[in-house]
Amino acid sequence: MIQSPTFADRPIAVIFSGGDAPGMNAFLRAVTRISLSRHHTPILGVRNGYGGLVEASKLDTYDLQKLVEERVGRWGMISDGQPLVLMDQPSVSGIVGKGGTILGTARCLEFHKPEVRARVVAMLEELGVRALIVCGGDGSLTGAELLTKESNLRIIGVPATIDNDLEFTEMALGVDSAVNTLVWAVDCFKDTARAHRRVMILETMGRGSGELARLAAIASGAEMVVTPDPKKPMTHADMEALALSIEAGMKAGRSHAIVLIAEGVRMEPEIKRNRAYVLADAFKEFFERPGGPFHDLEIRPSVLGHLQRGGHTSPQDCILAARFAEAALKEIMRPDGGNGITALRRGRIEIVPFGAPPLEDAEERSNASLHLHESLSSWEPL
Ligand code: ADP
Repeated sequence: MIQSPTFADRPIAVIFSGGDAPGMNAFLRAVTRISLSRHHTPILGVRNGYGGLVEASKLDTYDLQKLVEERVGRWGMISDGQPLVLMDQPSVSGIVGKGGTILGTARCLEFHKPEVRARVVAMLEELGVRALIVCGGDGSLTGAELLTKESNLRIIGVPATIDNDLEFTEMALGVDSAVNTLVWAVDCFKDTARAHRRVMILETMGRGSGELARLAAIASGAEMVVTPDPKKPMTHADMEALALSIEAGMKAGRSHAIVLIAEGVRMEPEIKRNRAYVLADAFKEFFERPGGPFHDLEIRPSVLGHLQRGGHTSPQDCILAARFAEAALKEIMRPDGGNGITALRRGRIEIVPFGAPPLEDAEERSNASLHLHESLSSWEPL
């Protein structure tokens, strides 16, 4: 076992980039522990995403190396302005189930410039880094793919985003935890909705993808889910049609409804407001129409926001993180191993090439989960 990691052992650099996702810490712990104990190779943690690499590339390599080797593990983590940290066993203790990332993540505009990326590559080569692991979403993996084309560094991507919009993998890190959080939130809203004869409209994250909303709707038993349709924006008439089906349910004796709406739903005319508020206003207008049977029905919107990102990492995500870490290291250690991204495909962990085709047609996948949700929801009285 390595007692005090140094650059002489040719570390593997690991960065977390873009939006944080539960499971990033579990990945850092797994990759550090497996790499140290099984491969005797240190992990070089990069602080604050690509920004940490860019900051490090501005320092003199000799001074940087000296600083990082002097302040290892937790000491390096609390050392102000130290962009790189050689991780040791204690530095990843107690983090497996914690959301966020102890190394920090960030968005870094400078990294879009080829000359900045070239400086980063030169710095990593001078430090003798044997490979770079990039853990993040779509944008972060695009940055990693550019590095594969512009350098001879070994690069492994690890999908981590609660949006689940990476179509080459069934699941990204963070999705299962975010779905768990949404199920918890829906349960809380359901109690009050039932007590007061309310329609609760809850807006989920997920950017342009409806996957998170659809999975949460299936798992929580929400009555309705509204997700982005790439072909057609949502109109006022579409919203009225949804309200009409809720009214039919109420007429049949239903006491409440939980509606999930994804933040990325496009609307016509284009509106900047949160989707939950727009839908709630349309529903209110519908139910308060003259002669409508449910004037007193309360419509309450809520934007769930960043609570979906934080909190406890689910056991499924911790396990997926460990499986991704093991596969990433195996690929790096393989003498003829290449670049690629860890992916969960048909229950197996695979390394797929950057730019790999989707596991299945995205439209097919979203239709399948929408139909599943529709078959599960019922407007029979409770
Ligand atoms: P996510 O990885 O969660 O999708 P972003 O799309 O914000 O998050 O991307 C995170 C970071 O990845 C960006 O701030 C930038 O540093 C890097 N990145 C994204 N797209 C590119 C690109 N086309 N070229 C170079 N770097 C990129």
